[in-house]
Amino acid sequence: MKAVVYEGPRKVSVTTVPDARIERHTDVLVRVTTSNICGSDLHMYEGRTSFEPGRVLGHENLGEVVEIGDAVDRVKVGDMVCLPFNISCGFCANCEQGLTAFCLTTNPKSGLAGAAYGYADMGPYNGGQAELLRVPYGDFNCLVLPEDARERQTDYVMLADVWPTGWHASVLACVQPGDTVVVYGAGPVGLMAAYSALLRNASGVMVIDHHPDRLRKAEEIGAIAIDDSRSSPVEQVLELTQGMGADRGCECVGFQAHDPKGAERPNMTLNDLVRSVKFTGNIAVVGLFVPRDPGGGDKLYQRGEVAIDYGTFWSKGQTMSTGQCNVKNYNRQLCSLIHEGGARPSWIVSQELDLDDAPEAYEHFDAREEGWTKVVLHPNK
Ligand code: NAD
Ligand code: ZN
Repeated sequence: MKAVVYEGPRKVSVTTVPDARIERHTDVLVRVTTSNICGSDLHMYEGRTSFEPGRVLGHENLGEVVEIGDAVDRVKVGDMVCLPFNISCGFCANCEQGLTAFCLTTNPKSGLAGAAYGYADMGPYNGGQAELLRVPYGDFNCLVLPEDARERQTDYVMLADVWPTGWHASVLACVQPGDTVVVYGAGPVGLMAAYSALLRNASGVMVIDHHPDRLRKAEEIGAIAIDDSRSSPVEQVLELTQGMGADRGCECVGFQAHDPKGAERPNMTLNDLVRSVKFTGNIAVVGLFVPRDPGGGDKLYQRGEVAIDYGTFWSKGQTMSTGQCNVKNYNRQLCSLIHEGGARPSWIVSQELDLDDAPEAYEHFDAREEGWTKVVLHPNK
């Protein structure tokens, strides 16, 4: 089958690899029709991780079930399914509590809980930027989609990661009706966090970035765009909130945060958030800060350490919550919102391309080039 394969830092190719297949009785095999490129793929693409050359990328996947293992009895051949990026078993102590991002079964080797398709340190599973995808524990990990799924793939595929993750940010930040919310990062995740906060009836949502096209997207949904290359984002937020700071804050950048001059400063958004959010406010960190192997890589990120102004955080009495999204927790409700017309998350899509276009798409998206906000690939087109 054809697949997008990681070759090394800033290089992917579309290559023929062995077909994905049913390996265990509980597996489901999916013919992928839509697979997104995610900001998280860029951690691997840019060579910040231990992702091995030769592996297939892609953890935001949707497609049609073409084969099921003997022990699968809920999912049927022909079903259109979206696959939450977390690969989870459904029966471990964490899954039982809905913490599917922390599954204890599917990633036994890494020392970290949780697994995902085509992802560094998250199990041996291949990604879905390919013609076929093996889905472990298929009955648990397939979200079977409603009858309009074939026509609305670019909406439903957002249920794999980016929209639930944005929603998760608004949940971790405890967004209530009437709240003011500040979101750092107008990438796909930040835009979906802003969208979620607005759907949860926030009174005002401020989105910070320095890419004009991404800030325009934020404005399209009724958020207030804050360009951090003009002046301090913290000062702009304080000015808009009568010096109080926002009620809630979301970090949607991660350890690739940089200042407007381009220098990497992985602690920047965390400290700016502490200063932009009010006393006793809640902060959600969904941007990725992963521990690194102390033996190698870039010193800056070793063991995932970043310097936080803990004194200000402490004296403000704030709460910070973080982690990967337990996608399944939100899937049913968000799927219904799409189906019933209450949401159309495909508004973030900037390009729909063939699988063969992936190398070029990665280049543009990685450079955060104007007009490349969210790329959707269509294998098997
Ligand atoms: P992205 O790289 O496309 O977007 C990040 C945006 O942040 C960019 O537009 C960039 O210009 C902006 N930015 C950089 N420095 C900034 C600063 N100092 N202040 C404000 N904005 C700044 O990535 P994305 O797809 O939107 O993902 C964002 C983060 O969320 C990544 O770290 C990704 O790995 C993570 N993520 C987490 C989960 C989860 O489950 N927790 C799921 C998906 C993605
Ligand atoms: Zn993703």
